[in-house]
Amino acid sequence: MKVLNHRLVQDDGTAIPFKASANTGGALNARWLVMHYTAGRSTESSVAWLLSPLSRASAHVVIGRYGGIIQLVPFNTVAWHAGISSWQNVNGLNQHSIGIELDNAGRLDQIAGKWVSPLKIIIPDDQVRVDRHKHESHGMPPSGWQTYTPQQIESAFAVSQALINHYGLEDVIGHDDISPGRCLDPGPDFPLEHLRGTLFGQKEDSPPIFVARAMLTVRGGPGTEHPALPGSPIRAGTRVQALEQQGLWWKVDVLDESNGVVDLVGWCHGRHLVAEN
Ligand SMILES: [Zn+2]
Repeated sequence: MKVLNHRLVQDDGTAIPFKASANTGGALNARWLVMHYTAGRSTESSVAWLLSPLSRASAHVVIGRYGGIIQLVPFNTVAWHAGISSWQNVNGLNQHSIGIELDNAGRLDQIAGKWVSPLKIIIPDDQVRVDRHKHESHGMPPSGWQTYTPQQIESAFAVSQALINHYGLEDVIGHDDISPGRCLDPGPDFPLEHLRGTLFGQKEDSPPIFVARAMLTVRGGPGTEHPALPGSPIRAGTRVQALEQQGLWWKVDVLDESNGVVDLVGWCHGRHLVAEN
């Protein structure tokens, strides 16, 4: 797959289906790719909704359960997929990102022994993953999430690859990354870290180094409910090596001796960390 005149085409030149959404803004120079789920009824109903002026919502691309791809907005034009959002000190991600919607029922509640979507659709058990969202604390019971199909993931990877190659995008992120607390999509079943690793070739053997830009509290777990560790807080300017990410929290290894403590390993909030260099 590739991009030609800001539209997706197959490698043999066949155009990917395009239907123009009414819901667009101005010119777009995208830096990021944002993944969503539709939490809808079907691919057709979600596409119809994103085309309609009534919804005041859109996305550049919708990917169906069977891997079918439809484009609704050219990639040089703002689509309305992100809403109130921020990433790396940039607000309003519609102005800075391409949005992909995956047809998926989203978060499911268990009602009378069945998994039920927000639109009250019953999802068969063999399409349900029971898991906690990365932003939920471990004290909460896990929910159900409709699983993505292999064909859908394959299409998502192919579209992402084409967009990253063509536009030099910096990263692929979830709606839940840029609108935490408000959005849960694409949820625990979407293999975001695998996608990132595959498309950006992240080196597993050289985890990123961050610098604390303020006094940094290091906790025993990913959340303010976990107590600060002995030796915390560490001074601004201290370097830490990222070991693991859970939502907005990072497990880090404190590299520089500070406050008399060496070899402190714990969790801190990402807002206080900036990449070294
Ligand atoms: Zn979303």
